[in-house]
Amino acid sequence: MSVDMYRITEQPYYRPVGDEVALYEAAYRHRIPVMLKGPTGSGKTRFVEYMAWRLARPLITVAAHEDMTAADLAGRFLLEPGRTVWHDGPVTLAVRHGAICYLDEIVEARQDTTVVIHPLTDARRMLPLEKRNEILAAHPDFQLVISYNPGYQSAVKDLKESTKQRFVAIDFVYPPPAIEQEIVMRESGVDASDARLLVEIATRSRNLRGQGLDEGASTRMLVHAGRLLVAGVRPAAAVDAAIVLPMTDDAEMRAALRDAIAACL
Ligand code: ADP
Repeated sequence: MSVDMYRITEQPYYRPVGDEVALYEAAYRHRIPVMLKGPTGSGKTRFVEYMAWRLARPLITVAAHEDMTAADLAGRFLLEPGRTVWHDGPVTLAVRHGAICYLDEIVEARQDTTVVIHPLTDARRMLPLEKRNEILAAHPDFQLVISYNPGYQSAVKDLKESTKQRFVAIDFVYPPPAIEQEIVMRESGVDASDARLLVEIATRSRNLRGQGLDEGASTRMLVHAGRLLVAGVRPAAAVDAAIVLPMTDDAEMRAALRDAIAACL
């Protein structure tokens, strides 16, 4: 498989919120692994796409899931008529060709994935391919990036201390209102007053965090609501469909959310 299909040719829109671009560039210069911390929909994926474009590196993204094993990352032999053929997994592909490898929500994956992550994230920068009896040295441009949502973690499902300590972390919080409005306008096409309203709704929902809601409305949800508005959906219906309904199944919580945001509509 060619790594060229992972190149990002057009500049992704990313609105910096703090000094994250400079921080990432400094980390990349030294090939330090990076951990993007923050709730879902807060711009982590867009950021890493933007950085890969900026640094002109291919980006290989892997969405981790609970059945994901080290072999899913590293690769495996597959039976083909008359022979077995080795297929590089996504991490191996990135390691070989000097891509940035983004493991999204890695905490979801099986514990054995640490046998892939650890040797790649310390001074060794190597990937043991046990099944091939081979140790692959990482391409000088290779870098590992993971995302991590502190809100979801529980004692049973958390990254090991020994894993966390290998990364420099960049915190993703929802942007200040003026910047979030700018993002919502640009991404959805709504005007400034609708964007302001959506961000106000998000702020109110975020204030309900800890009172039955794990998280408030994300920037992604605001973009969705904005797109529905642009498509002509009534504001109350757009906000319900893009924000209230996806966020909670609990009838009381929905009522509380609708109350909190009614004043904005
Ligand atoms: P995450 O990876 O944290 O779950 P994403 O990067 O997919 O979130 O962000 C969700 C959406 O929110 C993006 O598709 C984009 O529309 C918007 N977004 C959030 N933050 C930003 C930002 N700083 N600049 C541009 N778009 C953003």
